[in-house]
Amino acid sequence: MSTEQSAGSTAGPADVLRDRDTAALTELLPVLSELYQDLHRHPELSGQEHRTAATLAHALEALPYEVHTGVGGTGIVALLRNGPGPTVLLRADTDALPVEEQTGLPYASTEQAPGPDGSPVPVMHACGHDMHAAALIGAAHLLAGSRDAWSGTLMLVLQPAEETLQGARAMVADGLFERFGKPDIVLGQHVGPLPAGYVGFREGPVMAGVEAASITLYGRGGHGARPETTVDPVLLAAHVVVRLQGIVAREVPPGETAVLTVGRLQAGTKDNIVPGHAEIGLTLRAHSESTRALLHRAVERIVHAEASASNSPRPPVVRWLMDGPALVSDPEATRVTASAVAARVGQERIFPIPAVTASEDVGFLAQAAGVPIVYWFWGGPDADTVRAALADGTHDELPGNHSPEFAPALHPTLETGVHNLVAAALAWLDGSTDQERRT
Ligand code: ZN
Ligand code: ZN
Repeated sequence: MSTEQSAGSTAGPADVLRDRDTAALTELLPVLSELYQDLHRHPELSGQEHRTAATLAHALEALPYEVHTGVGGTGIVALLRNGPGPTVLLRADTDALPVEEQTGLPYASTEQAPGPDGSPVPVMHACGHDMHAAALIGAAHLLAGSRDAWSGTLMLVLQPAEETLQGARAMVADGLFERFGKPDIVLGQHVGPLPAGYVGFREGPVMAGVEAASITLYGRGGHGARPETTVDPVLLAAHVVVRLQGIVAREVPPGETAVLTVGRLQAGTKDNIVPGHAEIGLTLRAHSESTRALLHRAVERIVHAEASASNSPRPPVVRWLMDGPALVSDPEATRVTASAVAARVGQERIFPIPAVTASEDVGFLAQAAGVPIVYWFWGGPDADTVRAALADGTHDELPGNHSPEFAPALHPTLETGVHNLVAAALAWLDGSTDQERRT
């Protein structure tokens, strides 16, 4: 601990570094804003982030990082080895969504790209991953510029395909930690519905574990006028949907968070034909692994039991399509990180946030490395707009992540995102004036 800080001075080395970084960021901001707008104008779908990766690799070129591209598809790993000490992984995701942008912004996207079936779909950075990537590039600049103030290794990870929950896994499978070393901590952030300039932390579960399933139920088709000759998969599917809703209501302990949504129900072609099969698509979410396992088992049990109750001629097929772990922000590490971020952006700009039932695959990086993760949200919407909406009770109507009108205020969102990452990284690197916060 520095003598200045232990003496309670308000102008310790951390403040000097913050002021130096703020000046550097002011100078960098036009370039960084341009980068953000360029990424926003040219969004790419999960797994297709080729232009994005080239742009980001180019943005890192002038800096003293060792840059590796093509990791796990279009992922980038940038390393800055700066003497002995911990390795700190800063992660930003880079993919966009099949959404038609309706923000009216001068830098709005008009891009299209081949969707899952090959036909073109509109593409938009509707989740703010362009902001995540631009903020990480800003932090890369500032941390490279303050190498005299810290020691250790910075590992920047620009991860593709978050929206499909495949990118983190793909980078790990491509040897992320074997090739580039294991971090001591994983740090990441997401822009969200808080007022711009504010940062929200939570100790413990932050986002839910998720699974998705596609279910085929079999019947025996025939004439709608002669149901006695058929096994009706429409009735069977209807029973399954209703029964599935009993899991959260009747099987999950009331204190646990759990969601089960059937988002797809398809059967038949014509009013008077009993079809041969029905399809159900569902997603389930929980903040604990045990609840997620309970939901999974209950889905299997109900689907098979209802098929049997309907005298289905073939067992149902349940295909589990994707899964992602719950994102649990390590409580102790979160306290350390939040206090470092507070010292930089102002304690009055930090507040606690509730856990959400959306999901993220960044937790997989920490899980695979066997190290703690700290993950937080920072504000995107204009602060005055949020205040006004809170005052008149229309906050829920503000366009959130994944909305075609999702439009984070460029400033101060970008600057705050950069400062968050720099402060968080410095809290875990050696030799920094923030180091005493770890003890
Ligand atoms: Zn998203
Ligand atoms: Zn996102």
